[in-house]
Amino acid sequence: MRPMSLSQRAAQVIPGGVNSGQRLIPGLTDLVVAATEGARFTDAQGRTYTDYHAAFGPPLLGHNDPDVAAAVADAGRRIDLTGVGVTEGEVELAEEIVRLVPSVEKVLLTSTGSEATFHALRVARAATGRRLVVKFQGCYHGWHDSVSLNVISAPDKVGTRDPISAGILPEVLDATLVLPFNDVTAVRQAFADHGDDIAAVILEPVPHNVGCLLPEPGFLQSLRDETSKAGSVLIFDEVITGFRHALGGWQAISGVTPDLTAMGKAIANGYPVGALGGRADLMELFSTTPGAPAFFAGTYNGHPSVVAAAHATLRKLQTEPVHDHVFRLGAAIRTGLAEIFAELGVPAVAHGYGSVFVSYFMDGPEPTTYADLLRNDASFFIGYRRRLLEHGVFELPLNLKRSHVSYAHTDSDVDELLTATRAAVRDTLT
Ligand code: PLP
Repeated sequence: MRPMSLSQRAAQVIPGGVNSGQRLIPGLTDLVVAATEGARFTDAQGRTYTDYHAAFGPPLLGHNDPDVAAAVADAGRRIDLTGVGVTEGEVELAEEIVRLVPSVEKVLLTSTGSEATFHALRVARAATGRRLVVKFQGCYHGWHDSVSLNVISAPDKVGTRDPISAGILPEVLDATLVLPFNDVTAVRQAFADHGDDIAAVILEPVPHNVGCLLPEPGFLQSLRDETSKAGSVLIFDEVITGFRHALGGWQAISGVTPDLTAMGKAIANGYPVGALGGRADLMELFSTTPGAPAFFAGTYNGHPSVVAAAHATLRKLQTEPVHDHVFRLGAAIRTGLAEIFAELGVPAVAHGYGSVFVSYFMDGPEPTTYADLLRNDASFFIGYRRRLLEHGVFELPLNLKRSHVSYAHTDSDVDELLTATRAAVRDTLT
């Protein structure tokens, strides 16, 4: 009898064979990743892919960045987790985040972005004594109950409660209002109807969990105005936009200042980190402050190896032309993709921002709401990305997922991507 493959063994002991529901990808259930390096990963069969999925976004410097790896190895030899007190690395990382992110006066570390958004909502409710949370259709804020609804909804579910999971109490779902992104009128109406009971408005300032929707001029400011007037907490979820689009996140780009900011992903180039920062008076409501009411804990928070990864990452983002490089390649990709779609006569919008790109298969103009994205041809979107795999290019073959360039990608990788895309789109058309 032939020995079982790793993916067969995985399926026997890991439900579905993967460790995150977001890794369950039709057609890719036998993918076993054996190695990563720079802009690429290699599977157990020895096939190498140029990686634009990039683990949903953390490795902005590329995989196994040597400076990050060296910092982690050095920390691992010197200092381990003790679960008491604080380390020099944590203090310096907090100082760095406070210096870089405009609205952050104090910051706490978590191990994931989900924990950061969870604690943001908890402290908003603790501060206001209110119940309701406003989120937007298409935004993802992690796996916890208050926000686990209305991310990528089917057309008939938009405008209704669309939980992404069983097991959430209906009363928790009922305490979340879902609004259309970029719709100032809907926001004003929600505040007119429920303002006294809205604890927080949470959003991705650029909803990248459906590719890329850019905020229209004035939208973020209107959220700032409405929340300030009503005494609600404005939370920017900058888990993707933070550090990737600018060192100060989207708040530095837009000039709109939230009360709280959730961060993660690119801070530590792939090591498990999250952070929640913001106004000192709100952050001091967490139980890390003596006598404060909002419980906050985590065995691994501020793990020295993760903190070392974050320091090495943030240092490189500030001492090397990382943003210039990824923005230049991102722009070249979007331009090249638009030319290919025009040449092949495919109705498509090559969209994105900075290092993030996504092609929607629909007529223009660029989408600004989730409802616009319902025009995207999902089967074409997934189909051409599956064909890209045959050309050694990995963009996640799931509808509406964004792609990322890193500091490790090169101009010749961009050429390869565009050549592969032309072939994959042509094949998908036939
Ligand atoms: N917020 C946003 C915008 C995200 O994209 C994600 C993850 O993709 C999260 C929060 C949750 O972060 P994590 O997966 O680290 O819990």
